Amino acid sequence: MIPTKEIFAIDEKEIHALIRGGRAGRHDVSRILARAREGRRLGLAEIAALLSVEAPRDLEAIFQGAREVKEQVFGKRIILFAPLYLSNRCANNCLYCGFRRENREAARKTLSVPDVVREAAFLFEQGYRRLLLVAGETQGDASLAYLCDAVEAIYRETPMRMVHVNAAPLSVEGFRRLKGGGAGVYQCFQETYHVATYRRMHPSGPKRDYAWRLSVMDRAMEGGFGDVGMGVLFGLYDYRFEALSVVAHALYLEQAFGVGPHTVSVPRLQPAPGAALSRAPHPVSDAVFKKIVAVFRLALPYAGVVVSTREGATLRDAVIRIGASQISAGSRTDIGGYADGAERAGTPQFSLRDSRSLDEMVRSVLEAELLPSLCTACYRTGRTGEHFRRAAESGALQERCLANALLSLMEYLQRHGSAGSRAAGLQRIEAVLEEVPDEALRRRLADRLDRVRRGEADLHQ
Ligand code: SAM
Ligand code: SF4
Repeated sequence: MIPTKEIFAIDEKEIHALIRGGRAGRHDVSRILARAREGRRLGLAEIAALLSVEAPRDLEAIFQGAREVKEQVFGKRIILFAPLYLSNRCANNCLYCGFRRENREAARKTLSVPDVVREAAFLFEQGYRRLLLVAGETQGDASLAYLCDAVEAIYRETPMRMVHVNAAPLSVEGFRRLKGGGAGVYQCFQETYHVATYRRMHPSGPKRDYAWRLSVMDRAMEGGFGDVGMGVLFGLYDYRFEALSVVAHALYLEQAFGVGPHTVSVPRLQPAPGAALSRAPHPVSDAVFKKIVAVFRLALPYAGVVVSTREGATLRDAVIRIGASQISAGSRTDIGGYADGAERAGTPQFSLRDSRSLDEMVRSVLEAELLPSLCTACYRTGRTGEHFRRAAESGALQERCLANALLSLMEYLQRHGSAGSRAAGLQRIEAVLEEVPDEALRRRLADRLDRVRRGEADLHQ
């Protein structure tokens, strides 16, 4: 008999007990951080203890630990991308979202496939190399066919190098089709792992089915997605419960499929025009938000931690220093907002708090003494899923990723950068090159950077 995989479920009592145990302060923060620095995996009780920390000195220690772990695994690289909203039509009624079906005020719009291509081409010209397609949920095969058409048309008709997708859960067969079209990461947020809150927040539509959503990552992986992106919408329920549940879910995926999530996102509830919820039932402060980012970094060292423009500039500049490794830039959540501007676009999903352009973000990342990267090499050379994790664990990715980050940054600066970002970027590239200890490697890399400076594109290894 073929053994059946155990189905993942959240044991709410157990998670609440862990939170109570964490609060009792039985665990020693510095001992836990020492284990994380040594590359050991933390247990849920240890993560609960970190989440319960409130003393400023202990919080600083957590931020410092997260910064070090981030550098060990990802170096100084910060990946930049843009979301591309395809449609604000939705069959669901999520109380927090401006796209909900019962928002009668919304100007509904679905981009035609040629318009999707136009938006992607526009974004490529701004310097983006990876996009995250985002859509409301419409039912039936037509929506899957539309999504697949959009992904395939972008690859066929624009030079965009990587397309990820954040859309409603699919069947295994649906995921196979989407993956077959070349989608990179499949991203879907559980929103809340707390069943009663989930039911309250999702009064109708297909998303009401908690179990279907909870099992989405299993189906995505079975359908061929080695890379999945998880998250919850912070603000709906107790952040400790949610963060612990995300980690428990990630550990389950590691056990069941041999690979954990490729990314963990940290969306926090923002006001949305036409949403039924006027404020977060469990507000998360900026200080707590920073703690969550740092704890995810320590708990899931190989996952990219993604922070979107839902957050303001000051906070985003802070979290890239304590564990976040991917950020969106210059985002719009209105439909068709990039090429057409606000007047002709459909209603946005929620308010954005960081309106800096890609070029301004590149400069901010450089000012933080980090390295902006527009690299997409891993997905395109098959270094995904389990392969990516093992390479990251062995440190083998460090050298290759550093080279690819520098090459992609050079391409950006030469083709799209403003005078200011070009000057700052070239200076950083020089400084990073000087730190490469192996002389032969340094010379090879300098040579390739020079080729990009002289106009070659898409050099990567
Ligand atoms: N419709 C699909 C779904 O719900 O999974 C995918 C796209 S949805 C537009 C992407 C994510 O936006 C949701 O998973 C939710 O976490 C987030 N979101 C919705 N309303 C939000 C709000 N008011 N503030 C911040 N994030 C929000
Ligand atoms: Fe639709 Fe997604 Fe918004 Fe819910 S969060 S209303 S499913 S777009």
